[in-house]
Amino acid sequence: MNKQTVIIGAGHAAGQLVTSLRQKGYDGSIVLLGDEPYLPYQRPPLSKKFLAGELPAERLFVKPAAFYDDQQIDVRLGTRVTAVDRNAHTVETDTGESIEYTTLVFATGAQVNRLSCPGSELAGIHYLRSIEDVDNIREDAHDGARVVIIGAGYIGLEVAAVMREMGSDVVVLETADRVMSRVVSPPVSAFFERVHREHGVDLKLSTGLQSFEGDQRFEAAVTTNGDRVEGDIAIVGIGISPNTELARAAGLDVDNGIVVDSHCRTSDPGIFAIGDCTRHPNAIYQRSLRLESVQNALEQAKTAAANIAGGDEEYDDVPWFWSDQYNLKLQIAGLSEGFDDYVLRGDPDGGSFSCAYLRDGKLIAIDSINSPRDFMMSKPLIKDACRIDPAMLKDTSLTMRDMRQG
Ligand SMILES: Cc1cc2nc3c(=O)[nH]c(=O)nc-3n(C[C@H](O)[C@H](O)[C@H](O)COP(=O)(O)OP(=O)(O)OC[C@H]3O[C@@H](n4cnc5c(N)ncnc54)[C@H](O)[C@@H]3O)c2cc1C
Repeated sequence: MNKQTVIIGAGHAAGQLVTSLRQKGYDGSIVLLGDEPYLPYQRPPLSKKFLAGELPAERLFVKPAAFYDDQQIDVRLGTRVTAVDRNAHTVETDTGESIEYTTLVFATGAQVNRLSCPGSELAGIHYLRSIEDVDNIREDAHDGARVVIIGAGYIGLEVAAVMREMGSDVVVLETADRVMSRVVSPPVSAFFERVHREHGVDLKLSTGLQSFEGDQRFEAAVTTNGDRVEGDIAIVGIGISPNTELARAAGLDVDNGIVVDSHCRTSDPGIFAIGDCTRHPNAIYQRSLRLESVQNALEQAKTAAANIAGGDEEYDDVPWFWSDQYNLKLQIAGLSEGFDDYVLRGDPDGGSFSCAYLRDGKLIAIDSINSPRDFMMSKPLIKDACRIDPAMLKDTSLTMRDMRQG
């Protein structure tokens, strides 16, 4: 058959992939299969400006509909891939079609982790991954609705900030003893904890969820301490899991993510995987990573596109991420996991500072709060595993660029 790339999943990574494929001169057919009813869109605004009603849905889309026509991309929305036959080189869809491929790409993303405690099926309990989820929340959260948020990770805290700014009473339950504990260090957690409390969020740390109560509809969350926290809606943000079932069923290597190499190739060299669904090697940290970020989705898409178009490119970037809460922009470059020292640059009380993480004297990551220069300038230092004197890091009269020694 003629060259045909079939892409499973029409999310952010897929949107970049089709764009890059054409930019790289790929002249085969492209079939994009997505189970959501929307063209590829950006998810970050879902818990930020889109939830706040400050961004129209049209602004979420990676490309306008005309782009896909112009570029001759066969987009089939509302279409779920149900099986992959690697011998026949076909995928089956829930619409009963069998589609042939010469190259296949998994861009299946991730799904939210769901609670299974008593009461978890009540109406009024929401999760946040898609446009539809936000539409449901906005429909359910009348003016002044009391909101109970489960989980003080990025999503929970971004939603808390938006809801407070919209005038809702907000309670956040978090089992850990500090916020965003999976990704930032104690002083950064303490800063965000203080900011949320100052904005009136009732943050209950070291507090798990036991059950939800209500008559048909959510009325209260019962905590592991036995407290009953009443609300009108609950929003759960307790992490995500990669969508790997299809890949596993097709016999590809899966290990908490579809395993790919630095070229974004799966254990079957004719099949690629990109974005949240993957586990990939990272030479900077010398381990395999599963990332949940736009940067990873876009860069893997570009790498896979280059290789599908006949190139030989490797993905090996410093991971980065951001989160917007109130008037604060948290930007994270690198991965702080495994640090043995950290240094604060600037004064948290001034609302603009960074926390630089070192391992064996080398910079491995930085969290910058309203401090974009530190964030930008740190990336090359992290990439090159630069050794940095902690005393220099503390000195804010020096830029991060000045830190490079040899
Ligand atoms: C609320 C929210 C806020 C976020 N904020 C940030 C942020 O501030 N910064 C940041 O860097 N990242 C953020 N992220 C993460 C970022 O959006 C993801 O990393 C990115 O969307 C990953 O893109 P992806 O294409 O891999 O997956 P997705 O965008 O999840 O796309 C995968 C698509 O594949 C579809 N699919 C799955 N299986 C099948 C199948 N069998 N057949 C057909 N279709 C299928 C899915 O339904 C989905 O539409 C946020 C995510 C969310 C949900």
